Amino acid sequence: MNIVDCATIKDLLPLYVDDVLSKESKALISGHLATCESCKTDFHHMQTEFAKLPTNDGETFDVLKSMKKKLFKQKAVVAVVACAIAVAVIAGAYFGLTEWNVVPISTQSLDTPEVSELADGRIVVSMSVTTTDNILIRAVYFDFSDDGTVYLTPKNTIFTQTWKSVSYSDFLIKDGRFGEREITTLYVGTPNDRVLVWEKGMEVPPASAAVEERVLGQG
Ligand SMILES: [Zn+2]
Repeated sequence: MNIVDCATIKDLLPLYVDDVLSKESKALISGHLATCESCKTDFHHMQTEFAKLPTNDGETFDVLKSMKKKLFKQKAVVAVVACAIAVAVIAGAYFGLTEWNVVPISTQSLDTPEVSELADGRIVVSMSVTTTDNILIRAVYFDFSDDGTVYLTPKNTIFTQTWKSVSYSDFLIKDGRFGEREITTLYVGTPNDRVLVWEKGMEVPPASAAVEERVLGQG
């Protein structure tokens, strides 16, 4: 007994010939074709026509199958692009948290800044972190005011890499100047968290051999 009428079978025949139907639909149609002469004739006719379609490298050109392939390719491209975006976001976040020097280091985490005079007359301000774990001076920002006040602000990243916990940063003053700028007062820190380290006319002790060596080694 056929539970599907001939009109429906005839509608589905092209898909049956193209072999893109589900197993269940295929079984339904083969069952019907075995008992219905009219549909069987249509099927044979369609099969003959199908065989005449242009071929590609000897293979039957199958529009529906190639559409399926295309769709699969599009899905694959979307997946690859989504992965690339995810990787970029993670890399960006990692870089931002570990490489971007945005956090001023508290003056309490710093050693007391040392001021000394090198043999060549330059004054060196040394900032260091030797006692606090996992803090590294990664960058020092200079903030110059027109009145000659300077803030040296050691900065850190949000997540500091812990491979090194001792660091030094030296700032040099030559004849009361840093480059072209005249300096009268020098603080380490920020306006809200600062330590006065040098003022114009201040008596400065001679630099230790270690400081001389470190600064001259830096060129
Ligand atoms: Zn039929």
